[in-house]
Amino acid sequence: MAYDVIVIGGGPSGLMASYSAGLHGAKVLLLDKGDRLGRKLAISGGGRCNVTNAGPLDKIIEHIPGNGRFLYSALSAFGNREIIAFFEKLGIRLKEEDNGRMFPVTDRAQTVVNALVSEVRRQGVEIQVNSPVDRIVYRNGRTAAVRLMHGHEIPGRCVVLATGGKSVPHTGSTGDGYAWAEEAGHTITELFPTEVPITSGEPFIQRRELQGLSLRGVVLSVWNAGGKKVVSHEGDLLFTHFGLSGPAALRCSHFVVKQLRRRGEPKVILTIDLFPGLSADEVYARCRKLAAGEPKKAAKNVLKALLPERMIPLLLAKTGIAEELAAGSVSKPLWMELARLLKAFPVECNGTLSIREAFVTGGGVHLKEVDPVEADGGTVLLRRDFGRSRVYRGIQHYGRFCHGIFGGKARCPGGARCAGLCRQLNQLNRRLPSSFGGSLPQHTKTPRPRRAGRHAEAFIRAEAASPGRNRRLRAELAQFPVLFQLPHGNP
Ligand SMILES: Cc1cc2nc3c(=O)[nH]c(=O)nc-3n(C[C@H](O)[C@H](O)[C@H](O)COP(=O)(O)OP(=O)(O)OC[C@H]3O[C@@H](n4cnc5c(N)ncnc54)[C@H](O)[C@@H]3O)c2cc1C
Repeated sequence: MAYDVIVIGGGPSGLMASYSAGLHGAKVLLLDKGDRLGRKLAISGGGRCNVTNAGPLDKIIEHIPGNGRFLYSALSAFGNREIIAFFEKLGIRLKEEDNGRMFPVTDRAQTVVNALVSEVRRQGVEIQVNSPVDRIVYRNGRTAAVRLMHGHEIPGRCVVLATGGKSVPHTGSTGDGYAWAEEAGHTITELFPTEVPITSGEPFIQRRELQGLSLRGVVLSVWNAGGKKVVSHEGDLLFTHFGLSGPAALRCSHFVVKQLRRRGEPKVILTIDLFPGLSADEVYARCRKLAAGEPKKAAKNVLKALLPERMIPLLLAKTGIAEELAAGSVSKPLWMELARLLKAFPVECNGTLSIREAFVTGGGVHLKEVDPVEADGGTVLLRRDFGRSRVYRGIQHYGRFCHGIFGGKARCPGGARCAGLCRQLNQLNRRLPSSFGGSLPQHTKTPRPRRAGRHAEAFIRAEAASPGRNRRLRAELAQFPVLFQLPHGNP
């Protein structure tokens, strides 16, 4: 018998998709080529898993490099608040750290993996590991089955592609899904590494002068060829033997890659602000105060109160202050020069590490083509690699099971279908009691079936909590297959 949903890939995307499909009563098969699920998830966040961020949704979207707005609908339906609530329901308590980052209190990513896998099992999802998929079988313009490497074909009405990107391939993500999406007619945009350490040919990097030095809470900025700031990120920064790493560098890496590609130049300038909370004048005043306190002491020693010791020789050399010069003898312009350097320490960068070493793969299925209105293949593309997103809006059929599960946006395409959806919404509205969670959106110039999807989800959840209570309503909802596919079972 065919599965309702076959999910390929047991990373966080595939696990969440399987859970959601199972929760809604679908017959689900989760396939993974590895011997364990969530292998990349288990090493994420330095083995602690930065599950989500506690900040406001708008801020999170703002921090997603590239087209963060694309994820607005998906994250509005299931955003950070819902993620936190979801994990707490599974018994995983989360704690907030700097910049709103949320981690499990156990500090173990494996806790998150285990909880997700058990929940997926609890929803009745069948799991097959050591099952590498060779291809998706499309028949009559839609998904029909999934073929495994050893030739066995598994029939399925809907396929969720959650094979991840191409980074850290030993975790199983080797980019297999791109070819399948291409076969289904998608354009795959050029892949590139992102959330990746940045490389630099600066002599002080090459000489490994600062290797291993970590700066806390600095601001790293990327500049374009015209001297305009492209982006800034505050966070910790680590000097390595090849360049820059740490959260601030990882966040900026996307823009470094873009700048290098756009300009076709071999380098891009980044600057480090070591005192983000102070102006250059205030930094200057601090330096002068220190010098005034110990005028006979060498400048390099006086500055130890202000700066990481290992950085001082480099900073003094760049400013032109002799290390042994007494602090009281350093001229005002040189102190000012040093203050400016501390506010914008330049690092010329020439690239990043490879995609294999990146945390995230950029590029992939062209976003313009990921639109539920064009639903034809019955294939839903899920990837978590784009920032903290879970859902690439699915390519889905109206009325197909996936539409409801993922809060898939049944965007009103206008014309007959629009009229049909709105008519159904209005009919349904008249029948729903207010206890159901408010009325569904009325027909307006811009119908909002997506919200309706969420109302239906609320109903389905309530129904799952006390089966039978809403028997009559369930029967009524079942009359609207275009909008909702209800969990299996007779009304
Ligand atoms: C070192 C590191 C640290 C990270 N830290 C964080 C963090 O703290 N917070 C955060 O949000 N993100 C973090 N990320 C990013 C995050 O891990 C990924 O975005 C996420 O794992 C992607 O999830 P996914 O389900 O799309 O893909 P993956 O996790 O890559 O899962 C894809 C799955 O598909 C399977 N698969 C692939 N091809 C096939 C096939 N042909 N047949 C069957 N199965 C197949 C693979 O075996 C794999 O299990 C980190 C990444 C790395 C590398």
